[in-house]
Amino acid sequence: MLITGIKSRPVYDELTPMASGLNHLAAAQGSGGKPLVRLLGAMTPEQLAATTVLYSTESFTAQNYLFDLQQFRVRELAVFATNADAVRGLDASLATAKMGTRLYLSGSEGFIGTSMQVATSYGMNRDEVLREHAGSFVRRVWCAHCGHYSENVTHRVFVCPGCELNLIVRDHYSGRLAAFQGVKADSEVPGEMPENEELDT
Ligand SMILES: [Zn+2]
Repeated sequence: MLITGIKSRPVYDELTPMASGLNHLAAAQGSGGKPLVRLLGAMTPEQLAATTVLYSTESFTAQNYLFDLQQFRVRELAVFATNADAVRGLDASLATAKMGTRLYLSGSEGFIGTSMQVATSYGMNRDEVLREHAGSFVRRVWCAHCGHYSENVTHRVFVCPGCELNLIVRDHYSGRLAAFQGVKADSEVPGEMPENEELDT
């Protein structure tokens, strides 16, 4: 079974202020606060005054940058306890966003992926969004057999909580699903399991 060779993982950017923006929306999660602090530090007072920050304190690595983010004079800082709430907050912000809004995303791959889906649903273009990955490379995996989403997958082979099949995580990242695909691990030779390994990409 081909599980390597195709690298479709998104290529990430570095967050820097986009001079073309009239309004700035910055959403981050956990360790993603660090690139956000750097971004805000690089902004002019005028850009800061036109910036709304959405920050989720949910983190896989217990990284919290809330105190540092509070030091900047931004238009608004909204804090969320979970990543799902932050993504809903992003949705609400984009629903009322004006022309000339620029979006900055940082955090885990899953957070960036789901946030990007929201941004795309509002017709935002790639040149209006910057994404910076932060923290560990845990994967969000979509089961091809039952459709269950598993967050924070760290190993190549794992048991799907939805259908209890042994799944192997493929390296193909689907932007549409905002997840990597998991397929039945012993589909080639029933009962024969591929070697397990830690995902370190
Ligand atoms: Zn499943």
